Amino acid sequence: MKIIISLAIILLVFTLSLYIPFSPRLLQPASLVSLRILDRNGYLLREVLSDKEGKSQWVSLENISPNMILATVAAEDSRFYEHGGIDTRAILRATVQNIRAGKVISGASTITQQVIKNIHHFPRNWFWKFVEIWHALRLEVSLSKDGIITQYLNRAPYGNQTFGISAASWLYFDKPPAHLSLAEASFLAGLPRGPSIYNPYRYPLRAKERQEEVLQRMSNNGVVTQQEYRRAIEEPLNIIPPQVSFRAAHFADFVLSRIPPKERQNISSILTTLDIKLQEDVETLVKDSVKSLKKWNATNAAVLIMDNEEGEIISFVGSADFFDSDHSGQVSGITALRQPGSALKPFTYALALEQGMNPATLILDAEIRIRSNGIDYIPRNFDRKFHGLVRLREALASSYNISAIKVLQRIGVGSLLDRLKKLGFDSLNKGADYYGLGLTLGGGEVTLLQLVRAYSTLANSGIFKKEKIFLEINDIQGKVKPLLEDSPLRLFSPQVSYIITDILADNDARIPAFGTGSVLSLPFPCAVKTGTSGNFRDNWAIGFTPHHTVGVWVGNFDGKPMRNVSGVSGAGPLFRDIMLLLQERKSLANSNFSMPEGLIEVYVCPHSGMLAVSSCPARIREMFIKGTEPREYCNLCSTVGSFTLSL
Ligand SMILES: [Zn+2]
Repeated sequence: MKIIISLAIILLVFTLSLYIPFSPRLLQPASLVSLRILDRNGYLLREVLSDKEGKSQWVSLENISPNMILATVAAEDSRFYEHGGIDTRAILRATVQNIRAGKVISGASTITQQVIKNIHHFPRNWFWKFVEIWHALRLEVSLSKDGIITQYLNRAPYGNQTFGISAASWLYFDKPPAHLSLAEASFLAGLPRGPSIYNPYRYPLRAKERQEEVLQRMSNNGVVTQQEYRRAIEEPLNIIPPQVSFRAAHFADFVLSRIPPKERQNISSILTTLDIKLQEDVETLVKDSVKSLKKWNATNAAVLIMDNEEGEIISFVGSADFFDSDHSGQVSGITALRQPGSALKPFTYALALEQGMNPATLILDAEIRIRSNGIDYIPRNFDRKFHGLVRLREALASSYNISAIKVLQRIGVGSLLDRLKKLGFDSLNKGADYYGLGLTLGGGEVTLLQLVRAYSTLANSGIFKKEKIFLEINDIQGKVKPLLEDSPLRLFSPQVSYIITDILADNDARIPAFGTGSVLSLPFPCAVKTGTSGNFRDNWAIGFTPHHTVGVWVGNFDGKPMRNVSGVSGAGPLFRDIMLLLQERKSLANSNFSMPEGLIEVYVCPHSGMLAVSSCPARIREMFIKGTEPREYCNLCSTVGSFTLSL
């Protein structure tokens, strides 16, 4: 009697224990989801494996072909809809087999039990088998049959590091699981029984035989007709060869670096701003360019393209070849810190304009001695010459070093440094004394990304926007996550931005340093500045049209110097090719930069920078912020018959 009561109590406790709710956390898709990084049109750039090192995409039952459900039930558990989590008939059969063999060889696992296995991965022995059965019975109490088969189909291993029917369907047939034919569904349904032994890439014949076995069972169960069975067996299977998507590698890395690892678990896909078609064209240009740069002893290049309107990054080429380990191809030339050479000069001159200088202001380009980074030195111009009195326009366009230093002396290193920090040059984190006047000659270290961001500010009439790389982020529930956007910031007036743009786009003003018909002269308005760092370690060309800002870096990641390279021979030709490509692709009208209000053009004397008179040897049309234009007539040339023209 006591035994009966004890057994009854045990049975009662066991039955009640089945009603302990199944932890919803364990049934969440989170732990198995992989993250897909897409270009702006939805092309896959990279799929990042989940923490279980497998590819997986969660999918609801409505989005799975009914063929797949029928095939899975036939393949794994014909009595799935009748049993309550365990199949006693199958267990009895298996137990006999196992006792004969003296170990667990046959699982007789139901679909429900396999869900538990795929969640918990218990060891294979009698004790854990019992625990598994207990969990399976509980799962049947917690979930409907549809809920259980959804769990199964999303967790089952289909081989080649693929978990879940969605990932498998895309991997082997390149289609969504909703569109699987009977032949395809029966093929996939057979795989979880032995993902390695039926691996379609290694053992296609075995996998095909397994499919026929599954179809045979479906036919036996009466879920397919004899005709459907025959047709499915004869249907050729178009299995997609294995391919690894690894496009725009540096960009995908950059995207991942912007997502905290904790959040990654909850994201299923990211639609980025990158345009993979453009990216691949630019990658080709970069590869070709690096081949021709060999003669200058340069082995690498990087290119960043930003769409000015929203600050969207549309192309991001970090090196000539990501997989070229001889030249550190995995280093990204876009985020690496390098010396900018003259590339910061436009911001020096922008501050000068703010402080009342104008494009006709004369600067004495002659020998001086300065202190930079604690060292006294005599700065030299690139051409090793002194140019005497030069106009500000010419000094910037021809990139004279001494003039830039003179201008910086007037505006102060501190105010330039402050503005550069606001422009996003976070890496310039030392004090003004540390950099000294050499700051304008590229004494600090910056990245290509920072430079492109700063130049796009000039292109956007002085409004600074942080770069945008995300268009849409979807979480694992399929919801769109709200994106945080930084608010735009005005850092230069439209007038100052326009004058600097006008100077950088002035092919004539560049002639003294670059000659006529240089690679920097484009058949449409384009502002551009080159830079070369000390000892020819880095070479830059950064510039913009009204639509795009393009940054090009050329050099060696190991810091080896190039040979006498200049902006015109190094980064310039690649910059030109990219600008031409962008113009051609978008078939954009050769649009001009739009001139803001508050500017005035007058004729000045090139020698004095004052209002031109008839005896001046030449007169130059120059642009001024209203109120800063010269008021006095040239007193350098003869003053007979003076006149002036206002436009
Ligand atoms: Zn004159």
